[in-house]
Amino acid sequence: MYFNNNGGKEVTYDAIVVGSGISGGWAAKELSEKGLKTLVLERGRMVKHGDYPTANLDDWELPNRNRLTEEEWKDYEIQRRTGYTMTPAHAHWWPKDSENPYTETKPFDWIRSYHVGGRSIYGVDSPTASATWILKPTPKKVLPLTGL
Ligand SMILES: Cc1cc2nc3c(=O)[nH]c(=O)nc-3n(C[C@H](O)[C@H](O)[C@H](O)COP(=O)(O)OP(=O)(O)OC[C@H]3O[C@@H](n4cnc5c(N)ncnc54)[C@H](O)[C@@H]3O)c2cc1C
Repeated sequence: MYFNNNGGKEVTYDAIVVGSGISGGWAAKELSEKGLKTLVLERGRMVKHGDYPTANLDDWELPNRNRLTEEEWKDYEIQRRTGYTMTPAHAHWWPKDSENPYTETKPFDWIRSYHVGGRSIYGVDSPTASATWILKPTPKKVLPLTGL
């Protein structure tokens, strides 16, 4: 039988950050730079550079000319209010509302995404701004994440 006598030490952290978006990611950076042993928990997948399956496709190359069908549209009852992002070109970024329900006491429009970096990878002002091209059919080029 194996006993890990260091287990307590190995899995004890000064700080645990949930989520690797711009809030959690920055908090983790600050905490770890201050010398705290920091653990980041992220529920989503890693997004590697180049992992943009629709970035170079035109509308006519996408299903239904880049429009969700009535049936698919039902999966995004909340997020579809934001409009432009709920298309076949972008839908793979968003968890479905139908599978991730929440109670809305008053109208609140938002878009969720579960992956390393969170929604920061879409912001035009973020250091990874080139990822914004993912959301746009034109121009056709995806710039390197470090190339700006
Ligand atoms: C299409 C789009 C364009 C945008 N453009 C701009 C822009 O141009 N300029 C601008 O300033 N802002 C922009 N924003 C808004 C900006 O991206 C967000 O406000 C910001 O990134 C939110 O950061 P956050 O860390 O608070 O949340 P998020 O980025 O959502 O991070 C949350 C993280 O937590 C993870 N997570 C969630 N639940 C759990 C759990 N239970 N356990 C572990 N991990 C979990 C998620 O996977 C995610 O990685 C845009 C947003 C979108 C969607």
